[in-house]
Amino acid sequence: MLPGAPHVAYRDGLLFVEDCELNALAAEFGTPLYVYSQTAMLASLASYQRALAGRDHLICYAMKANSSLAVLQTFARAGCGFDIVSVGELERAIAAGGDTAKVMFSGVGKTRHEMRRALEVGVLCFNVESEAELDVLSQVAVQSGLTAKVSLRVNPDVDPRTHPYISTGLKGNKFGIAHERAVAAYLRAAALPGLEVTGIDFHIGSQITEAAPYLEALDRLLDLVEGVEAHGIALHHIDLGGGLGITYADEQPPSAEALLSALLERIDERGHSHRRILFEPGRSLVGNAGVLVSEVLYLKPSSVKNFCVVDAGMNDLIRPALYQAWMRIAACTLRDEPPVIWDVVGPVCESGDWLGRERPLAVKAGDCVAVLSAGAYGMSLASNYNSRGRAAEVMVSGADARLIRDREQPADLMHGEHLLD
Ligand SMILES: *Cc1c(COP(=O)(O)O)cnc(C)c1O
Repeated sequence: MLPGAPHVAYRDGLLFVEDCELNALAAEFGTPLYVYSQTAMLASLASYQRALAGRDHLICYAMKANSSLAVLQTFARAGCGFDIVSVGELERAIAAGGDTAKVMFSGVGKTRHEMRRALEVGVLCFNVESEAELDVLSQVAVQSGLTAKVSLRVNPDVDPRTHPYISTGLKGNKFGIAHERAVAAYLRAAALPGLEVTGIDFHIGSQITEAAPYLEALDRLLDLVEGVEAHGIALHHIDLGGGLGITYADEQPPSAEALLSALLERIDERGHSHRRILFEPGRSLVGNAGVLVSEVLYLKPSSVKNFCVVDAGMNDLIRPALYQAWMRIAACTLRDEPPVIWDVVGPVCESGDWLGRERPLAVKAGDCVAVLSAGAYGMSLASNYNSRGRAAEVMVSGADARLIRDREQPADLMHGEHLLD
């Protein structure tokens, strides 16, 4: 077993995801290849479900972490709702068999068109991120003859102590309504036609590895709940967002069960047990379940640096380039040779195109390597830069491996383009 990837392990020197050997999958489906463990996804979900058992709750999988249809289907069948941030994600949730009555619509920049579609299909609730959005949502709801259920995303101004690009609950971030404006915003929401206030929400950031920022944000949220209800506005649900981190290197985030138990204990202590509890986890449900398999194309040793050029690049997995993220890279075949220190780089024409720096690996051209913990913010952030088709994806369950997305071909990439004449 490898750190942070409980369903990825070596057997007799070969790397497996569940009971599927990665070199064999690479030979069958080609590389670069995303491989997911369905068992790992469901095990992560079970950690949330255990803590919430016996309570009125809903887990809305934040699908921007990985929105491939078979992943969504896996969670829909397990009873999850979805946290979405665009109409495109809404259509994906529907296509995967998701229940629209369990869809939470988040995001700072919802368009009228997106609001209308979400109202038509009957989403659970809109997480509204500004007072201006309240006005527009009210207008769209009235025009559609429908009622929009709303919760306000409140910015609790706590520091989640994570990467600045993925912290969202600080005053300087674009997200949510400022804590001190929240009561006024609720009064406005309650007075507007076409809106029905149902809850309150926060989401403080991503890859959070401690419980303390959540508890701090929760306390501030509960203060507000009490403040809002003092004005006669009932809040039926509390949505505690997502953001729980995973192990990439040596991080030791609390388990979902441990974090939620601490949060629920605080909710009970403060007399809020009767409220419905929502969570919007993304990364923690899928991150450790996925690997990106890539073939070593060329070894380029030099006096200054050794480059291991692989066939997956920043267009397939941008986390290292975008966040300077460290992701474990493991050889798919263990060789009985001393490792050499390599910078593992992709084929894209950018010096920022690297997957890992200074990694000890014993590999030869033609070998496969796997980037671990690549199930979240991997495929969903993939692009076609350099006119590279996006990778294929495989879902593994035990010894069963299913192709869940074809590798993109050049014709797919040119679809919808027009020559001048
Ligand atoms: C991204 C996001 C999430 C999920 O974040 P993770 O860190 O992947 O758990 C949840 N809620 C909202 C509103 C988000 O934008």
